This record gives sequence, structure tokens and C-alpha cells, in this order.
Amino acid sequence: MSLDPPAMFVADARGLDFLNSVATPTDALVDWIADGPGLISWLRQGGLVPADALREIAARAMPSELDRVAGQARDLREWFRGFVRDWRGRPLGSDAVKDLEPLNRLLERDEAYGRIVFHRDGDHLALESARRWRSPESLLIPIGEALARVVVEEDFTHIKACEGQNCTLVFADHTRGRARRWCSMGVCGNRAKVAAHRRRKKSP
Ligand SMILES: [Zn+2]
Repeated sequence: MSLDPPAMFVADARGLDFLNSVATPTDALVDWIADGPGLISWLRQGGLVPADALREIAARAMPSELDRVAGQARDLREWFRGFVRDWRGRPLGSDAVKDLEPLNRLLERDEAYGRIVFHRDGDHLALESARRWRSPESLLIPIGEALARVVVEEDFTHIKACEGQNCTLVFADHTRGRARRWCSMGVCGNRAKVAAHRRRKKSP
């Protein structure tokens, strides 16, 4: 059982939350996807993979297999962190596509299919997309999809790094005035307020 604090979902975009799956929420560094069980838990908390699929994969796979996939997920995370670092602050142009080749290679492994289901609340038939979860590696696909969504749906001009000292969290600023500065007011925002207050008291 893991004693880690719950994972953080403050980025306002799942693909960026994935970058924040390693952070220093208090004093110590926590990597929520440090191993297979961590990856399964993060995917469950983030709602990226249906809980029954996760249970099935976890029951079927060898622990070492899941640990290996967690390693691949960490590689993917650090690769995407580099991409975001290179591009944030300006809109993505056509030349970003070649940098995204590794992500396209991951996405082409998808085993998605459509199925017609009865939509209970809408009382109508609907086309739902589903996915075959053949191997533990397939857990990387919804992560890749979340990263791809960041690329196509977010304006990179407004992807920001938290201004908190030593904070590594990133987020998409969706506020109206684009004035968001902190990963969360409760953590870094508060720390900054306290620090500013202390400075004011010191210099009368
Ligand atoms: Zn922060």
C-alpha cells in the first residue's frame, strides 16, 4: 500500500496534470508513477482508464511488467516536459509537428473501436468509443491521447509554470485575464503571500 498523498490535478488539462505526476507537494519529492501500482493508481485518480480495465490489467500482468510500463510512462512524461518547455509561451506552429513524432508513433498503436450503445439518460442510441486493453503497454495510449489533446486544444501561449519557489508544476491558464500565477492558491499562492507579508514587516 502506498502512503503517498493523493495525486494533484490542478493543471486544468489532463496532459499537463501528467507532467505534475512528479512534484514536491510538501518537503519531499513524490513521483506518483514511480512503479506499476503507482501508475495504476494515478490513471484511476485521473479518470484516464476505466476502473474495471485497470483491475483486469493489474490482475493479469506480472508486477515487473507493470513496473516496466511505469518506466515507459516516466520517459514519456519527461519527453513531453521537454516539448512543453521548448514551446510554451507562444502558439504552436507547423514546425512543432516533427517534434511530436514520438507521440504520433505512440498514438498509432491504439486499438480503439466504436460500438453502439443505448444511452440511458438521453434515451437514445449513441456511438461510443472503446479500446482493447491487450497488454499493460496499452495503458500508455490514453496518456498519449491526453498529451495530444494538450497539443491541439490548448493555446501554448497560456501554458505556464507556477511562479512558486522550487515549484515545478505547470498548468494551462484558463482564467479570463490570464492572470493565474500559481499551481494552487492553497500551496504556492499562500506561500508567496506569507513571504510578501514578511518582507513588508521587515522593511518599514
Ligand atoms: Zn506551485
